[in-house]
Amino acid sequence: MKIIFLSLVIFYSNIFAEEFPQIFGCFCEGGLISGRLIDKNQIVKIDSKKITVTADGDFIFAFGRKYKDSVIISINNVKKKFNVRDKKYKKEIISGLPKRKVEPNKVDLEKIKKDSIKIKKSKKIDDPKRLFNKQFVKPVDGRISGVYGSQRILNSKPRSTHKGIDIAAPIGTKILSPSSGRITLVDDMFFTGKTIILDHGMGLISIFAHLENVNVNVGDFVNTGQVIGSVGMTGRATGPHLHWGVYLEEISVDPMVLLEFSLYN
Ligand SMILES: [Zn+2]
Repeated sequence: MKIIFLSLVIFYSNIFAEEFPQIFGCFCEGGLISGRLIDKNQIVKIDSKKITVTADGDFIFAFGRKYKDSVIISINNVKKKFNVRDKKYKKEIISGLPKRKVEPNKVDLEKIKKDSIKIKKSKKIDDPKRLFNKQFVKPVDGRISGVYGSQRILNSKPRSTHKGIDIAAPIGTKILSPSSGRITLVDDMFFTGKTIILDHGMGLISIFAHLENVNVNVGDFVNTGQVIGSVGMTGRATGPHLHWGVYLEEISVDPMVLLEFSLYN
């Protein structure tokens, strides 16, 4: 049955090959894919969900941490099926965090609530244009000390999964912008310490946490490779490192995918 279905997909995709754009990125959990329509007026659906297309015909889609094993992309009803690779997630045990950072008190909870409203809001500030470059660069020269998607046990308490990667580096190490975009938030937060949010356009944002110093202001446009701050251990951290998270709206993306795959020609 699968073979018949697949041959049909190939058969139809050959007929309509000129209709279907090249898709970039990673078909994997935590992955992000992108494409540019041949005709800007085409309708894009991914697993029946209508996808927003920019004025230039660009579209992006993120799979998140858990996704089924395949996805159907439809361009004006021409459908193609792609496999989505699954990921094995680690269990990460971290101990020695200050008690308050794992079990916050009443005052802390107020602050956490305010922080999360601000973060949520800045995930919504959306430049409809594509601001990111085709290839992201590693923001800090250092060892990857925490990977995307791990289930975290903090001071023996199960906490949310790790939505990003950690790069260990000495305090003061320069943090470079991994791609271009506009700064939409600079703040000092309970969990993430000194924090920057960078809007890459089309709903894609980067969050940088635990900084020592911040070198940018809200509203600044930054280019790939520009210094935006330095590594620290502010907020909830056991040692100096950069936490780099990427989101497409509310869906968290594995930043490693953006380092390994280019997003357009
Ligand atoms: Zn982290």
